[in-house]
Amino acid sequence: MRDHYDALIVGAGHGGANAALALRQRKFTGSIALVSDESSLPYERPPLSKDYLSGKRGFEQILLRSLPVWESHGIDLLLGERAVEVNAQAHALTLESRRTLTYGNLVWAAGGRARRLSCPGHDLASVHAIRTREDVDRLREEVRSAARIAIIGAGYVGLEAAASLTSLGKQVCLIEAQSRVLARVAGPEVSAFYAREHQARGVEVLVDRAVEGLEGANGRVARVVLKDEPAIDAEVVIIGVGMLPNLEVLGAAGAEVANGVRVDAQCRTTLPDVYAIGDCAWHPNRFAAAGFTRLESVQNAVGQAATVARVLAGEPAEYTEVPWFWSEQFDLRLQTVGLSSGFDQTVVRGNPANRTFSVVYLRDGRVQAMDCINAARDFMQGKHLVAAAARVDLMQLADASVELRSLKG
Ligand SMILES: Cc1cc2nc3c(=O)[nH]c(=O)nc-3n(C[C@H](O)[C@H](O)[C@H](O)COP(=O)(O)OP(=O)(O)OC[C@H]3O[C@@H](n4cnc5c(N)ncnc54)[C@H](O)[C@@H]3O)c2cc1C
Repeated sequence: MRDHYDALIVGAGHGGANAALALRQRKFTGSIALVSDESSLPYERPPLSKDYLSGKRGFEQILLRSLPVWESHGIDLLLGERAVEVNAQAHALTLESRRTLTYGNLVWAAGGRARRLSCPGHDLASVHAIRTREDVDRLREEVRSAARIAIIGAGYVGLEAAASLTSLGKQVCLIEAQSRVLARVAGPEVSAFYAREHQARGVEVLVDRAVEGLEGANGRVARVVLKDEPAIDAEVVIIGVGMLPNLEVLGAAGAEVANGVRVDAQCRTTLPDVYAIGDCAWHPNRFAAAGFTRLESVQNAVGQAATVARVLAGEPAEYTEVPWFWSEQFDLRLQTVGLSSGFDQTVVRGNPANRTFSVVYLRDGRVQAMDCINAARDFMQGKHLVAAAARVDLMQLADASVELRSLKG
């Protein structure tokens, strides 16, 4: 058993796993370990609210790589091991098992944990999060015998879970505090479209609702208590109210942390030889209104993994990718490019009633982001407009028969 690694990576999600693989692709010959507090082999997280929840895909089918691939790449998997302390001066990482490992470089790819509610009843049995494979295994087991499920939070994870559970014949009630679904991440046209699609399949969509607490019967959750309204009966409750970045260990070690671990364009934290990537990294991003952001997407985690691998392999690198994201609900595939927050105008291409359309977000007349629903061509062809923050003719932009690649900024 080694006690030193040239590249020690904490977290074996999309960020950590891809950093390890990318290091080998870049001919990094040093020793590499992936430390994960989950006991499973590294797996894809997006299916947890989609095909893995609905049972269409099993665990083997969502593995990022099979065990022999990790072995043949000389990447040690330290599974079921939680990193609890970093001593940056000593270049040492302590695990909960009290084992201490020294490192040449440390990559912090610890993602985040599901945000919990703090209201009365939040800790009752049958209240679930969807962040890890174990969460979903427990949820699937309980969902089997449940008829009515309440989901608190109508962001992407909440909506995807509602779609997956509806496909299993469950009666789902979505409860959202804001005035529309996807309020934090999409414009009103997209919110209205998804609310309608869910309602059309029998999902009860309640917006502008304040949850006061969860009540139980026989030790299990039985209903969601709303302010000034009758309670919602539910045998299972899913909390989908976002995540909290895992930054405390690096923060305690002296790293600068805010809404994430602060890094530069090479993913360097403020600690020597310590990098941070993925969901936990507060990074410079020219697509973010404030110039810095923290993104929760596979693209971001994989892109930063590639950047850190280049840096550790001694190559010039800078993380500058155009952000993109996807979501799958029912037979709808949404693809997003750019970051829409702060937009002051939207242009709709196509007709939402046909279930194939795009919403283009602009700020100060420049294309900032696009949500493309069953419109892969717009997504592919519109990327360059987002990358260039293009100013385009709005009549042409709104005309779905005009191909986006023909528009010049
Ligand atoms: C249900 C769900 C659906 C999603 N769907 C999409 C989608 O459709 N499209 C998309 O682009 N993105 C999606 N995302 C987001 C995407 O999965 C994340 O952005 C991505 O997983 C981030 O990768 P990461 O490596 O930064 O973090 P994670 O994948 O969270 O991996 C971090 C790992 O580190 C481990 N860890 C944390 N702390 C420690 C510690 N102290 N010691 C050891 N290990 C530790 C964690 O347990 C975890 O295994 C979804 C996320 C969820 C939860």
